[in-house]
Amino acid sequence: MLLLPTGMVAPTQRTLPEFTLERPVSAADAVAAGASPGAVYAQGCSDLFAQFREGLSCRTLVSLERVPELRAVEWDGTTLEIGSGIDHHTGARDPRVREALPGLAAGWGSIATERIRRRATLGGNLMARRTRYEMSVMLCALGAELEFMTPDGTALVSPASLWDRSEPPGGLLRTVRIRDVARLWFGYERSMRPLLTVAAAVREGTVTMAVGSEYTRPYTVAGPLGTDPAELAARLPDAVGDAAGTARYRRHVAGVLLGHLLERRTAEEETSR
Ligand SMILES: Cc1cc2nc3c(=O)[nH]c(=O)nc-3n(C[C@H](O)[C@H](O)[C@H](O)COP(=O)(O)OP(=O)(O)OC[C@H]3O[C@@H](n4cnc5c(N)ncnc54)[C@H](O)[C@@H]3O)c2cc1C
Repeated sequence: MLLLPTGMVAPTQRTLPEFTLERPVSAADAVAAGASPGAVYAQGCSDLFAQFREGLSCRTLVSLERVPELRAVEWDGTTLEIGSGIDHHTGARDPRVREALPGLAAGWGSIATERIRRRATLGGNLMARRTRYEMSVMLCALGAELEFMTPDGTALVSPASLWDRSEPPGGLLRTVRIRDVARLWFGYERSMRPLLTVAAAVREGTVTMAVGSEYTRPYTVAGPLGTDPAELAARLPDAVGDAAGTARYRRHVAGVLLGHLLERRTAEEETSR
C-alpha cells in the first residue's frame, strides 16, 4: 500500500492506496459508514480523483450513489430544499427550482461543461471547497443553510462557514435549504470569470451581493435596495484582491456587474407587470 503525504501530486490515480467500498442505501447508514476513521464520501467523483492525486488518503470510500434521500427536492411555496446529491444538470432543470428561483436555475445551469454537469453534484461542489467552484458564491448571496447529518445529530451551517475552517465540517451534507423564497429575487453574473463572479439576492428591500473568484473565497456585503452598486461593492474587504486582480479593480468590476444584475431585475419586474 502506497500512502502519499498530503500536498504531493501524483500524476495518476494508479497510485491510489487500497480501500474498502461501502454503498449505503440510506442517509443514516451513510452517516454511520462515514464516521469510521479514514472514510471519504463520494458522489460524482469529478473532484475526488483530483483530491486523490493531491494526496488524499482514504481507508473507506462511502459511495452516496444509492442514497435516494440525497436527491430529493422540496418546494412548498416558501422554502426550497435541494438534496446534496442532485447533479448540476438535473438540479438546474428541476421544475421546482425553476419555479422557486429561476435565477438560481439559470446560474446553476451555466457552470461547468455538459459532461461534468451530468455527473457532478451540488454537495460535491460545496464540499470540495475549491475557490474556483461557484455554488457557494450563489448560496452565500441567497443566505442558504447547509444541513449536515452527524452521528450526534443535525448541524446547520452557512455556506460562508465552509471557508472559515481549515478542515471541512464532519458529517454528511444532506440538503441545502433556502427560506423566504417567495419574496426573493436572485441573479448570477459569471461573464468576468475567472477574475470574479457576482451573485445578487434582493429580499425585502435589501440587496445581498456575494463575490467569488477562481482564487479567493466568497465575500458577502449587503445594503438597502437603491444603494449605488459601486458604493456597495466598495464595502468588499481588501481580501477580495490578490495577485490576479487588486481589491480596487475587483470592487470596480463587482459594482459594474451588480449594476447589470439589478437592471436585469428591474427589466424582469417590468415584463411581469
Ligand atoms: C472539467 C471540469 C470543469 C468544471 N467546471 C466548473 C465550473 O465552471 N464551475 C463550478 O462551480 N464547478 C466546476 N467544476 C467542479 C464541479 O462542479 C465539481 O467537481 C463537482 O460539483 C463535484 O461534485 P461531485 O459529485 O463529483 O463530488 P465528488 O468528487 O464525489 O466529491 C467532492 C468532495 O465532496 C465530498 N462530498 C461529496 N458529497 C458529500 C456529502 N453529501 N457530504 C459530505 N461530503 C461530500 C467528497 O468527499 C469530496 O471531498 C468543474 C469540474 C471539472 C472536472
